[in-house]
Parts: sequence; structure tokens; C-alpha cells
Amino acid sequence: MKIFISADIEGTAFTTYWDETELKEGVYARAALEMTREVRAAVGGAVAAGADEIVVNDAHDFGINIDPNEMPECVELIRGWSGSPLSMVEGIDESFDAAMFVGWHAAAGRYGNPLSHTMSTKTTKVTLNGLPCSEFLLYSWACAMKGVPTVFLAGDQALIDDSAALHPLLKTVAVKSGWGGSTRCLSPLKAQRLIREESEAALRQDLSKGCIQLPEHFELRMTYKEQKNAVKFSYFPGCRLLEDNTVGFDTDDYMALLTVAEFCL
Ligand SMILES: [Zn+2]
Repeated sequence: MKIFISADIEGTAFTTYWDETELKEGVYARAALEMTREVRAAVGGAVAAGADEIVVNDAHDFGINIDPNEMPECVELIRGWSGSPLSMVEGIDESFDAAMFVGWHAAAGRYGNPLSHTMSTKTTKVTLNGLPCSEFLLYSWACAMKGVPTVFLAGDQALIDDSAALHPLLKTVAVKSGWGGSTRCLSPLKAQRLIREESEAALRQDLSKGCIQLPEHFELRMTYKEQKNAVKFSYFPGCRLLEDNTVGFDTDDYMALLTVAEFCL
């Protein structure tokens, strides 16, 4: 069984301030270690369920957060950024049996995580076909575009509330919840144990029933904090300015939508 895992840091067990997510001396080291351990827990669950080939995309910031020395032999790690619109799921293709997401966070402007955002922090609200457009929505649909079912998500409670209905076999672990600038976090040990257990349970399902059919049409709406960004990105091919701060992009081509996300979010 061949499994794809994409990992982020703002939805791991205790990250609360941006300082904890940025590659530098200090509190970041603790968060990067937790990200590594949560990914290792998901890898452990996958191996227990029969995975023998696992590709992990380190999909936060510079893409060099996970300690490669902590990954078992069956793991290949994707580090850094290719520049492809597949972005946080770069490396996904039709050969994978399932995709799993670890450490993911709520969409731009959503309650439930002080670090909520969608790609950058330029926007206050992003929707896709009327749904809160989290990075998880964008890239789990990218996996569906490649025919790969998404079966596991670990992250904050708000993201899980927004995402539970997106994929029929989705098993979830909420490692923290947020209120305003605060978070309430599981013990990392408990978070890792639950991730290990639920990722195994996710992959023991009938994966042939897991892949969704993408909608035939996509409507992306991006509301920027700064009006000058709305004007700038309204010039991206296919985009248009809908309101003072909001840019729209409509398409039937999901790869075209991912391209807009890569350049305009
Ligand atoms: Zn991130």
C-alpha cells in the first residue's frame, strides 16, 4: 500500500503564536519536534495498516521542518517547494492508495485557531463554491483530482468541523481548539497516540469507496486585507474584481484554480 502524507504546523498540538511556526531560534524548535512526532505517529499507523511506501510532503514555510532522521526507511520526504500549483501536495499522483493530512489549520478568518489562514495571511476570507476555503479543502480536492481518496485529517477542531463532510471515509483527530488568541491543547502524547490509532483505522477501511467526484464548476472568492492586493490580483488571467476587496475566479478546470491559489493567495 502506497500512502501520501502532507504535513503542516499551525494545526499541530500546541502552536498558538506565529513565532512558534517560523524557522528561527527559540520556541520554533519545540513545534517542529511536535510536527515531526505527529507525522511519525501517522506513519506508524500507516505501517500498521499495511503501508510499505510512504511519501511525506513537509508543507510548511520553507518545507524543512520535519527531522528526516526520525523517519523510518519506508518514508521518502519531499522538502522545499517545487513551484508547482500542487503546492502542499506536490508529489501526489494516481499511484497512491490514500492521502492523509497532519497538522492542518482552519481557513482564513475562521474562528478556532489564532493561526487560521489560507496559504498566506493576505486574506481575511476565502471561499470555494461557498465553502470556507481551507488549505485542506484546496489540496484534498487536488488529491481527488488525481483519483486519490483522502482518509485522515489531524488539526484544529474548527478545521475538522468545516471538513468532516468533505470525504466519505475521513477519520479525524482534533488536537486543539481555539478561542480568540488562545488555544486549548491535548497533551502531545495523547495527540500522537490518537493520530497513530485513527490513521491506522482510516487505512483499514475499504479505500475503493473513498474517492469523491469533484464538482463540475468551481467558484473561488478571495477577500484581501488590503484593497491594493485585490486590485493587483484582479489582473491575474481569469480573475476579476467583484467588490472593493474581493476577487473572483470561476472555472471548470481544477488545476487552473490551484494555479490561481498558488499565485494569488
Ligand atoms: Zn503552515
